Amino acid sequence: MKILTIVGARPQFVKAAVVSKALAAYPRLKEVMLHTGQHFDANMSSIFFDQLLIPRPSHLLDIHGGSHGEMTGRMMIEVERVMQAEKPDRVLVYGDTNSTLAGALVATKLHVPVAHVEAGLRSFDRRMPEEINRILTDQVSDLLFCPTDTAIQNLSNEGFGSKPVSMLKVGDVMQDSALLFSSHAIKPAGIKIAGPFVLATLHRAENTDDSKRLGALIEGLNAIHRDTAPVVLPLHPRTRAAIDRLGQRLVVITIDPVGYLEMLWLLQHCGLVLTDSGGVQKEAYFFEKMCVTMRDTTEWTELVELGANSLVGASSEAISAAASVNFGRKVDTEASVYGGGKAANRIASVIAGDGA
Ligand code: UDP
Repeated sequence: MKILTIVGARPQFVKAAVVSKALAAYPRLKEVMLHTGQHFDANMSSIFFDQLLIPRPSHLLDIHGGSHGEMTGRMMIEVERVMQAEKPDRVLVYGDTNSTLAGALVATKLHVPVAHVEAGLRSFDRRMPEEINRILTDQVSDLLFCPTDTAIQNLSNEGFGSKPVSMLKVGDVMQDSALLFSSHAIKPAGIKIAGPFVLATLHRAENTDDSKRLGALIEGLNAIHRDTAPVVLPLHPRTRAAIDRLGQRLVVITIDPVGYLEMLWLLQHCGLVLTDSGGVQKEAYFFEKMCVTMRDTTEWTELVELGANSLVGASSEAISAAASVNFGRKVDTEASVYGGGKAANRIASVIAGDGA
């Protein structure tokens, strides 16, 4: 059975790393990987293949930038060519990026069944491009690998229970990755920080593309750096460009995006996580750190319910107040809502036809 895996963005490399290893345990499965090129800088792409020992993609496209429509359209054209040549029995897509949607749409139109890893997540904010990508990808998938009970519930609420598809709660593949690679964490070169610090990431379009929000976030980050603890911010290229355009001074410790192993080190050693990322919210929990989320909504709602995530939006006062209250707090992870590191094996066994 030939599986065509489609990836393109940083979080997908982290997710595919563990699933690819699990698929490789089945000799009857042959995985072929396509990388759309959505993320292409060495520190946003190839470093993940090197560190996580992901085989080089058989098909590396060069599609990035432009509007959402343009990027997704160009991906669809090229992905269709690859799919027609490869003739896979199944397509495997991850998460919620334009690469996910392009792969899922092309596959379904060629009558190739689609498996979606991280199915059923909803922020209920349709202004987020990721939300549209998730909803549409779920609609055309026949294997919906859900990380949590909430994800299953979301799909049931949308009527998936009466469709001829499989909705399976398998756990979260990012927890598999965190557990697998945690002991290989590397201190980022050039980080001279001695004491406790706040680890921040910031790249969601709703924050970077709105100058008022971005300005308030910069103010909040500066206040935390001044009043609570040094803030270390590996800066996403999109955010760096947006801050340069805005011209507002950011005084925190900015570094280039780091590899996954360096990110694990930062997660292990920080006193608080401050983010607008989807994946990093969960990673904070995996490492028992409180997370302050700089968004109005989250698709990882169980973390808010567990008190492990404080969803504060983009007000500078709310962010700095939440950081000051939560810095250094250890999160209780007893609830173990993400499956405990068995998701990739379950996914591979379902794809191979052995059941979950
Ligand atoms: N990440 C990384 N280096 C960084 C920032 C993030 O390795 O400088 C990792 C992070 O630990 C997580 C993944 O990239 O595993 C999340 O990606 P991102 O926040 O870009 O995407 P999202 O989860 O928001 O879709």
